[in-house]
Amino acid sequence: MLTFLLIILFWPVVLFLLVNLFFLPFQFAIHSFFNIFTIPYQLIKIAFNQQLRANHALEHATINVIEEHYGPLNIAGLGQEDGFIIQGPVDPYTVEEAARIGLARLREGEKDLAIHNRCGTSILAANFVSSVLVILLLWKAGYSGLFYILLALVGAQFLGPHLGRIFQKYLTTSTRIEGFEIAGVEVRSANRGFWNFGLQPRRYFVRTRRLMQY
Ligand SMILES: [Zn+2]
Repeated sequence: MLTFLLIILFWPVVLFLLVNLFFLPFQFAIHSFFNIFTIPYQLIKIAFNQQLRANHALEHATINVIEEHYGPLNIAGLGQEDGFIIQGPVDPYTVEEAARIGLARLREGEKDLAIHNRCGTSILAANFVSSVLVILLLWKAGYSGLFYILLALVGAQFLGPHLGRIFQKYLTTSTRIEGFEIAGVEVRSANRGFWNFGLQPRRYFVRTRRLMQY
């Protein structure tokens, strides 16, 4: 009796899951098809923006310098055209010093500082790899099953980080930072509640300036 009741109650859920499992490969295929166009478009748009790429490199260098001293702090960043955002449990003086050190070290030729593993470019790269693999497998095997999707995701897991570093190096960052200087750090912390002040991640905008044109 109880079993019967359970079946009556849960069969819509089971049906829902089965239908989803059936359609999942199709959804993946459609997503992948869009991704193989939209991801390169996003990357190319950044690649032509020299100012943004230089600030993106400086953002990574700043985070790398901070993490060299304090270990992984889960700092997030975002490059912009007139500077970059740093968000994390650090004070503004640390951010400013790290930005200046990062800039100086990049200028001295430490190009690895411009690359960061947790960069959004790497997520794009992983999505791009899985999309290409899904499309390739679909094309080669003629249909897209769950197994192929799994294969594509595993492939992306392995290839994504490597491709991410390549995309960062050649497309989304630039070490052509001649004439750049750190203009200052502005605190942009949003709604600091009294119950947890000082503990939550803080948001800074590091303004950069380019003194000479090239
Ligand atoms: Zn990045």
